[in-house]
Amino acid sequence: MKDYWQNYIDGRWVDGGVGRVDVFNPGTGEKLTEHALADEADVDRAVQAAKRVHASGVLTAMRPIERGRMVQAMGRYLIDNIHEIARTLCLEQGKPLWEAEREVRGAALYFEYYGNQASTVEGRSIPLGEGYFDFTENEPYGVSAQIIPWNFPLEMTARSLSAGLTTGNACVVKTPELTPCSNWVFADAARAVGWPDGAVNLLCGWGHQAGAALSAHRDVNQIVFTGSVRTGIAIATAAASNVVPCVLELGGKSAAIVHDDADLDAFENDIRWGIYLNAGQVCSAMSRVIVHESRHDEVVERAVNIAKSLSVGLGIERTEAGANMGSMVSDAQRDRAAGMVAEAEAQGAQLATGGRKMNIPGAFLEPTVLHHVSPDMTVAQDEVFGPVMSVMKFRDEAEAIEIANGTQYGLVGGVFTRDLDRATRSARQIRAGQIFVNQWFAGGVETPFGGYGKSGYGREKGREALWNYVQTKNVAIRLG
Ligand code: NAD
Repeated sequence: MKDYWQNYIDGRWVDGGVGRVDVFNPGTGEKLTEHALADEADVDRAVQAAKRVHASGVLTAMRPIERGRMVQAMGRYLIDNIHEIARTLCLEQGKPLWEAEREVRGAALYFEYYGNQASTVEGRSIPLGEGYFDFTENEPYGVSAQIIPWNFPLEMTARSLSAGLTTGNACVVKTPELTPCSNWVFADAARAVGWPDGAVNLLCGWGHQAGAALSAHRDVNQIVFTGSVRTGIAIATAAASNVVPCVLELGGKSAAIVHDDADLDAFENDIRWGIYLNAGQVCSAMSRVIVHESRHDEVVERAVNIAKSLSVGLGIERTEAGANMGSMVSDAQRDRAAGMVAEAEAQGAQLATGGRKMNIPGAFLEPTVLHHVSPDMTVAQDEVFGPVMSVMKFRDEAEAIEIANGTQYGLVGGVFTRDLDRATRSARQIRAGQIFVNQWFAGGVETPFGGYGKSGYGREKGREALWNYVQTKNVAIRLG
């Protein structure tokens, strides 16, 4: 790992006006490297570069299929460099190396998927009777600002950048302070495939400084934010001041409803991935399991077995997909999660397993299962963002739905049952943007993703996301 990483503005690697931030390896607690920190002037330079590229018309003049080819080539660049990128991501974020490799593949998939659709962003012709010819076009907003969280820094940047470029926007990405380094690859990829300088800018800076400056910048035309509710509100407020649209992908407290006829052998796999992937630092994590009282004890027992089966330790040593988990992203995040577990115990919840900091260096929390959780407890209401699953009981379907819908969030939800009628009914009643039936995380880059309630608005992924990056222009022609 090199000892200093710069920002990428207008086609050049540059230092930051604020200096540098230390980046740590959360698996060891040791300093890993340093990264440039942007100030307001750096943000302005990046936005002006993007504005210049947009105004030049070079991106919109391209035939979309050509633009799409370049987007797809960026995805291939990621795959060609997968080992180097995954290693950087693993070291700065703490996830197992194989999960980091999976994230690189996931990031590449966004470029493949959206690049493939560049020529499908079509307008339509609207009949106005004799004497008129009317058509619509979907034009890029211009400068797209994209603010990224630390949990999946590659996939989150790829998700917005690929759709932004596909539709002909110039992009300014604010990378997360804790995990900024792996994003280097998007600059290298942009250069390698031939985007003009200024079409892709990447800068790391403090959220309250560079992030705030970017979201309030008058020359930003559209904002995509992925992160916490608190920051989302600040960004939506800034966007409103400039009357620009924003997409908010915020947190979640997502629930799986497990009915009495659920296939619990299969559900073990959902526990494994739903709450212990990325050490639970997943916005759509299965952080609540609401299980029919007749199957409660069995679910808790199976969850405990899954949690105990995981080998927890240094991400870089966990090279093979399997029963293992890395560290959390920082001691502060780990301590916050452990604190929420302790608070839950004080409120009457019981630890079925885990819940404690591990007695080794690094930001490790034991894979945790809490039961005897009631819906009003903090741990059942607020996002833990760690490997902590809360199990609750229900007696009838109406109660299950009430508990599932009883938080401020609404990102995803799940129903586990063999009864298709029941599954469909529940899917319609759960207030969330994505519902998984009999497999947590079913879906992919092709399926629209986004929140109800305080989980945000707008959709990323799927065809729907493309419309966030364009605005419709109608052209009505009076014929002679
Ligand atoms: P965060 O809100 O603290 O930070 C996210 C980004 O916003 C960072 O780049 C940060 O520097 C920046 N930021 C902070 N303050 C800002 C401000 N005032 N103005 C502009 N930018 C600012 O979130 P986090 O802790 O990095 O990420 C965890 C959160 O992200 C969780 O709540 C999680 O659920 C959510 N998340 C959501 C999704 C989704 O798709 N819905 C995906 C991943 C993470």
